[in-house]
Amino acid sequence: MKEILYRSTRGGASGVKASEAILQGLAEDGGLFVPETMPVLDVKIEDLAGKSYQEIAYEVMKLFLTDYMEEDLKYCISHAYDSKFDTEEIAPIRKADGAYYLELFHGSTIAFKDMALSILPYLMTTAARMNHITDEIVILTATSGDTGKAALAGFADVPGTRIIVFFPDGGVSPIQKKQMVTQKGANCKVVAVRGNFDDCQTGVKNIFNDKAVKKEMAENGFRFSSANSINIGRLVPQIVYYVYSYATLLSRGVVKNGDPLNVVVPTGNFGNILAAYYAKLIGVPIGKLICASNENKVLFDFFQTGAYDRNREFMLTSSPSMDILISSNLERLIFRIAGDDAEKNVAMMNALSKDGRYEITDEMKVQLSDFRAGFADEAQTAEEIAALYRDADYIIDTHTAVASHVYRNYCSETGDTAPAVIASTASPYKFTRSVMTAIDKKYDAMGDFELVDALSVLSGVAVPRAIEDIRSAEVLHNTVCEIAQMEDVVKAFLGLK
Ligand SMILES: *Cc1c(COP(=O)(O)O)cnc(C)c1O
Repeated sequence: MKEILYRSTRGGASGVKASEAILQGLAEDGGLFVPETMPVLDVKIEDLAGKSYQEIAYEVMKLFLTDYMEEDLKYCISHAYDSKFDTEEIAPIRKADGAYYLELFHGSTIAFKDMALSILPYLMTTAARMNHITDEIVILTATSGDTGKAALAGFADVPGTRIIVFFPDGGVSPIQKKQMVTQKGANCKVVAVRGNFDDCQTGVKNIFNDKAVKKEMAENGFRFSSANSINIGRLVPQIVYYVYSYATLLSRGVVKNGDPLNVVVPTGNFGNILAAYYAKLIGVPIGKLICASNENKVLFDFFQTGAYDRNREFMLTSSPSMDILISSNLERLIFRIAGDDAEKNVAMMNALSKDGRYEITDEMKVQLSDFRAGFADEAQTAEEIAALYRDADYIIDTHTAVASHVYRNYCSETGDTAPAVIASTASPYKFTRSVMTAIDKKYDAMGDFELVDALSVLSGVAVPRAIEDIRSAEVLHNTVCEIAQMEDVVKAFLGLK
């Protein structure tokens, strides 16, 4: 099999093995690792029909992680996708009102981040062993609400690792916050930042790129890595469920071999939809990639006009995991449509950090023809939840509702009748207040956990373990810091001066 090596989107590194890229997280020049050449599936998609999630995971991940030994990769997969998930299917596909909802929230923290973060700790500790790393790995994570808990759950008490999570104070749902601040594990630290998600993400990137900190870390036996979707080890496991979706819908007779399957993704940092794009590039017959935004519709405007412009008000919405104005993973797409030209990409990324905006060329725009974009405002999001409950007796979360609304608009505007998979990225139990009040305003009078019980009655779905666990859990983390103090918090946790 052909070895796949990685390079930075900013030109500073090439020939990097998958395990090294996973260990580093972000390239030293501040760029993101991308495959130097895109692999292609070496089995026919119809041969994957009816295969288990774990089997398909291996077929996909082996293409990208070529320096991992077969037995190591299979070990990582079987330990990640096990009874932590509340269904053997791992990612069940549920039909409702003519669309296929790919439920990516059956893992231990009930959001789609579990799909990658239940395997990333295994991939990372394996990579450390392969590369004879003895330093303690310090995972720095910025979260808009879901990555934080999923990463904590994955890395808690994993020997040789520590994890620090920064979340925007007041910018996550009550359940998301409670999930994080009750996290156990001596190697875990959770910090609220007085800023928004972009501030957290930029703060983390700055610590990563600070040479002095890096030196001090190395002298004390530490090295940083990332659990954000800037890490290629997050992205690769996310490709799997798009391959799985096609194979599964093929076995159910929903798609015929080779027919396009559209994919609709509620988007924030552009990781999930980029994984769908990668699935298409490795040979899965995916049709349109439909990017759904909430009121922070910087990506909608980008696909509409070719100009990426973050100079606008940051909105706090009922889909907080998509409250993002700087979508990190878009850089991987920009690099690709610039013809893998690091210089062009750097010019745009510099413009983004200096002026908050850049514009792509017409030549680049042409290559975005597989993408479509739409957005849902707060009222449309709530109406989508209510309508699907009313018409199909199916309750979805706010993020999924954004995508579902965008999908229905897309269908009526284009008349496209190809089947579509909507990435259902979180359990409604994570956003109970928004979900329940969308169905009926009267629920707003209830407390957070009363709402949980009411949702269970309404949906007929048992309260997930992840929610039961935090009902009475003790708050263990109460650090709040200013944006400028993030570095000091990291140093203090590591016992550096
Ligand atoms: C993270 C997240 C998203 C956005 O995914 P990206 O990969 O950042 O685009 C959407 N919905 C939920 C529930 C999430 O947790």
